[in-house]
Amino acid sequence: MPEGDTIYRSARALQRAIGGKLCTGFETGLAPLARVNDDTPLAGRTIEKVESRGKWLLVHFSGDLILVTHMLMSGSWHLYRTGEKWWMGRDRMRAAIFTADFQALAFNVPVAEFHTARSLARYSQIPKLGIDALSDDYTVERGVQSLRTYGAEHPEAEIAVVLLNQRVIAGLGNVYKSEVAFAAGVNPFRAMSTITQQELEVMAEVSQKWLKVNVLDGSSATGRDGIVTYSGNRRTTGASDRAERLWVYGRQGQECRRCGALVQMRKQGEQARSTYWCPGCQPWVATPGQSTEAPVGRMLKLTGPRRKVGC
Ligand SMILES: [Zn+2]
Repeated sequence: MPEGDTIYRSARALQRAIGGKLCTGFETGLAPLARVNDDTPLAGRTIEKVESRGKWLLVHFSGDLILVTHMLMSGSWHLYRTGEKWWMGRDRMRAAIFTADFQALAFNVPVAEFHTARSLARYSQIPKLGIDALSDDYTVERGVQSLRTYGAEHPEAEIAVVLLNQRVIAGLGNVYKSEVAFAAGVNPFRAMSTITQQELEVMAEVSQKWLKVNVLDGSSATGRDGIVTYSGNRRTTGASDRAERLWVYGRQGQECRRCGALVQMRKQGEQARSTYWCPGCQPWVATPGQSTEAPVGRMLKLTGPRRKVGC
């Protein structure tokens, strides 16, 4: 699943290439979009702004028309120079926006709709998104507040499922979910009612920090011409070695980089998403507040992967 930082990067790359430019053409394989384009053509409108909101990507056209797409599991936006060959087949193209210099193409997006500012405001899903960890108005306090509010209403909800819930904090995907819980020393299966204020603060803080780091990391990759890449090179450990990029995600059965225990994986939540954790660094806590006495609850000292010496 594209993570929030991926969609943020896509939106930023699209904004740089086609933001403020004149739309010279529009193509789509979706009948509802085609009908709008027939009635009120996009060609001739200005592309006022491209933005991301959590996992949604919005393209604002002049004349109060907004193309709204959601990536879900398979969708992606590609950017090509005019005349460049597409990397995916036309049969998978859902929407194509043309300017004098660029082609912006949405492939396999399961949701693609036109909205006006008014219908967007009424649209049930986007306004309900939680605070976007990449937005300028995100603060640790607001992140914590959002988690606390949800936890008060859903005390039994498991923390990693809540981290993935885009209506609580928007932007975290399945990779960061496991990494953020690890950073706070929180077992991902703990109920919200057991999570301490301090743990919430750590998770709210690293959520923002790591998403931002990965957005910055990607700036050079998306700055070049051509395709917006989704090479899974996000990292949280600070290590530049590809094999040491992440603390626990995708590392089932391998030694924890911090304590050496074997990283575990279990499917979690209604969607049975893979959750990775270290049983040593993220011990099970079943009782509210218990964790304040345990050696968890503050950010684990994450100083980079342990190096094996002499072997
Ligand atoms: Zn560990």
